[in-house]
Amino acid sequence: MKLWVTPKGDRWLCAECQKQYEKQIEEEKWRVAFEKWEPMLRCSDCGHSDLDVLD
Ligand SMILES: [Zn+2]
Repeated sequence: MKLWVTPKGDRWLCAECQKQYEKQIEEEKWRVAFEKWEPMLRCSDCGHSDLDVLD
């Protein structure tokens, strides 16, 4: 999971949601603060963790 720095504050996004935000990421110049593989982290958008997206 990556922590993105956005104009509206920091948010965690999973790989799937990152695809949906690609355009916004580019337009608003989001950047990755850091990346962490931590099962407890939840995506701010879909609410899933990195470990349960395969379901
Ligand atoms: Zn997500």
